[in-house]
Amino acid sequence: MSELVPHWIDGARTPGGSERRGPVFQPATGEVAREVALAGPSDVDAAVASAAKASHDWAETSLSARTRILFRFRELVDAHRGELARLITAEHGKVLSDADGEVQRGLEVVEFATGIAHLLKGEHSDGISRGVDAHSLRQPLGVVAGITPFNFPVMVPMWMFPVAIACGNTFVLKPSDRDPSASVRLAELFTEAGLPPGVLNVLQGDAEAVDALLNHPGIAAVSFVGSTPIAKHVYATAAAAGKRVQALGGAKNHMVVLPDADIDAAADAAVSAGYGSAGERCMAISVVVAVGDRGDELVEAIAARTRALKTGPGSDESSQMGPVVTAAARDRIVSLVDAGEAAGARPVVDGRGQAPAGHESGFWVGPTLLDHVTPAMPVYTEEIFGPVLSVVRADSFEAALELVNANPYGNGAALFTTDGLAAREFERRVTAGMVGINVPIPVPMAYYSFGGWKDSLFGDTHVHGAEGVRFYTRAKAVTTRWPRQAHGIDLGFPTHR
Ligand code: NAD
Repeated sequence: MSELVPHWIDGARTPGGSERRGPVFQPATGEVAREVALAGPSDVDAAVASAAKASHDWAETSLSARTRILFRFRELVDAHRGELARLITAEHGKVLSDADGEVQRGLEVVEFATGIAHLLKGEHSDGISRGVDAHSLRQPLGVVAGITPFNFPVMVPMWMFPVAIACGNTFVLKPSDRDPSASVRLAELFTEAGLPPGVLNVLQGDAEAVDALLNHPGIAAVSFVGSTPIAKHVYATAAAAGKRVQALGGAKNHMVVLPDADIDAAADAAVSAGYGSAGERCMAISVVVAVGDRGDELVEAIAARTRALKTGPGSDESSQMGPVVTAAARDRIVSLVDAGEAAGARPVVDGRGQAPAGHESGFWVGPTLLDHVTPAMPVYTEEIFGPVLSVVRADSFEAALELVNANPYGNGAALFTTDGLAAREFERRVTAGMVGINVPIPVPMAYYSFGGWKDSLFGDTHVHGAEGVRFYTRAKAVTTRWPRQAHGIDLGFPTHR
């Protein structure tokens, strides 16, 4: 019998009551490494009940006590970052240095959340009327849920639960069933840091668990990160059930390269941002828009670098790019490249059918560069989520900006140029939530907020930073009077006297 990745409910590992199980693959070998418990209705109820039971005491726990636990959690995650990175690499496939970077970016959100005492300060106005004062406070929502994708099994959950918990909420995390182990380890470390049972629960599962959470009367708010069709479903269902929702969706991030750009720097950036983590990043560059007459030079510079990349198991330190997550993901990526080629795109570097020697049964696609892609091709319209860079040619800055803005996604967009005025125009007019100027993956730091526009975000609040604190709290405005004597009846509308 293979090892079971359990739930974490009420401060302990549990296989749960459901008999359903899912396979957890090792993408580099294609083998099933372990199984994951898939929650049924009784498991969902148990996780929400545990969070509800812990909710009152946790909300009443002082800010300094919560902060001390967060500091200890930060130290424990840092001490176990190698172990966490190895868990990520085994189940996701990304190379170890990338997995370590993911843990680091998650830690930065914990560091941000240790400032919660400052972040939750309200405002006070003395004397809004004669003898009357006003102040505001932000209070936790209660039990909140987070539903996360496979591509960042540590970082994306940590975009959510440290902030939610610091704000005084209790949390039910439903991670991806493709790489579920790291989330249990995080919950274990948080408990070791002093977090009371029930404040953070991990519910393993698939669509059944998600749908039960979206409709559960015990859940006040839902944070979701994943693909656009599921983000839309989560937003519509949870909002209809009266919950606060932020649902971050997929992406098609463009990198516009103007003819005045440093071509070597642009090519380095395109290759790093296109093939890092095998393109399985929501902020990966998937489209390079080559503007003007230097397109061939840029494509050649990208191609030379792409051909030199070393693909191999993530655990091998010499590998620069690992496998993709599942056989189905590999087949879908290859079929989109096939369709692109059939529609007239030119494969300059072709990663189809490539596998490192000795690992042929893993889920491999080599880095692929397609030139002369047009906006009508499925390879352009679909989010590929694999190591495929498409190059679209544009005549001018205006044509390139129009192309980016016509795309239904609006997560990230980058411009490479040495022209400050063009950069200013791009920053102001592009319809994307995160913009890079000579920076290909402009992921905001933890103290800013992360989120896209258009089909990349349903809801209005971005995650972590100040918007994360707002999402996980609700505001109250209090008006106070301590009269020495009765004021008498006055049926008029209160005005400030
Ligand atoms: P996914 O949408 O398949 O899954 C996300 C979560 O939803 C998982 O927990 C999964 O179990 C659950 N889920 C899947 N199908 C469901 C269904 N039919 N009903 C209810 N729940 C369901 O996404 P993924 O493949 O795990 O992750 C890749 C996607 O996530 C890409 O589209 C990527 O762009 C996106 N992503 C976006 C961001 C962002 O910040 N915008 C960040 C990371 C990943």
